[in-house]
Amino acid sequence: MPSVSRHPLTHEEVLVSPERSERPGAWSQDSAAGESIAAPCPFCPGNEDQTPPEIIRREVNGAWTARVVPNLYPATAPMNGVASHEVLIDTALHEAPLRDRDLRSLSSTIRLWKERYAMHASRECVESVIFFRNEGRAAGQSIAHPHGQLIALPFVTPRLAAELQSFTAAPECPLCTTPRDPSTERLVVERCHGVTLRCPSAPRFPYEVWIIPDRHEPDWLACDGEALAEALQVATRALDRRWPGAAFNVTLSSTPVHVPKRDRFHWHIELLPRLTNIAGFELATGSWLNIVDAERAASELRAALTSSSR
Ligand SMILES: [Zn+2]
Ligand SMILES: [Zn+2]
Repeated sequence: MPSVSRHPLTHEEVLVSPERSERPGAWSQDSAAGESIAAPCPFCPGNEDQTPPEIIRREVNGAWTARVVPNLYPATAPMNGVASHEVLIDTALHEAPLRDRDLRSLSSTIRLWKERYAMHASRECVESVIFFRNEGRAAGQSIAHPHGQLIALPFVTPRLAAELQSFTAAPECPLCTTPRDPSTERLVVERCHGVTLRCPSAPRFPYEVWIIPDRHEPDWLACDGEALAEALQVATRALDRRWPGAAFNVTLSSTPVHVPKRDRFHWHIELLPRLTNIAGFELATGSWLNIVDAERAASELRAALTSSSR
């Protein structure tokens, strides 16, 4: 039976209708990561002249392992002469999705994300630093080479504002109280060293997973990067085992940088699989229609993790 629930932080309505998963065309045909995206690749070694001049280059034995460049097609204008939309090319390897990385590579990637995030968050003109990663064409990835994107904005985004409002209005942090409710245990996918992978009670997307620190931390810069690396590896591998090659977005939700009561925020990362399309219902209503409920999603992802060794 279809049911209605509310996003725990933004209070958006989510309609879960499992019956719709049976209909023809329920699952996106284009969800897999595509190989045929834009060749030759402007992010591969040897093609550095196809990107704007780099902001950062990390090298090992004379070969670069990561580059940060301004986005050639920025979503936002530079502020005070500083590019506000960056591309973080965190590997020189063209075929290196997050799920295939080892922990050392992922930890180094997270250090790079943090470094750039911290730089923008320290700017007085910046109110929100948005970080996301698109993997697969259905997730909006236009260049197949793995990369993340960071956008610094001079305002608090509506999503962060809604989440902060939810944190400040609640008597106690919703992400801290959830684990104390035994009925939510079945939404846990895995626990990794102080970080829990959990399906949210009102998922907007099938198999949506949140990576949430067990300890209340407003700002993700305080996190243990190695624990987060492991959590990201587990989450992306679980999804890939359940839906091989599935496209997904990774989004970071961390406190706006200069607001009062920012300590009430509880940072987390959302892994949003793109197995279905956003269509007329979502556009017409501003609500979400999901065909897989959170309990089923968590159960199948747990089973995927235990089906073979990591
Ligand atoms: Zn490439
Ligand atoms: Zn909390």
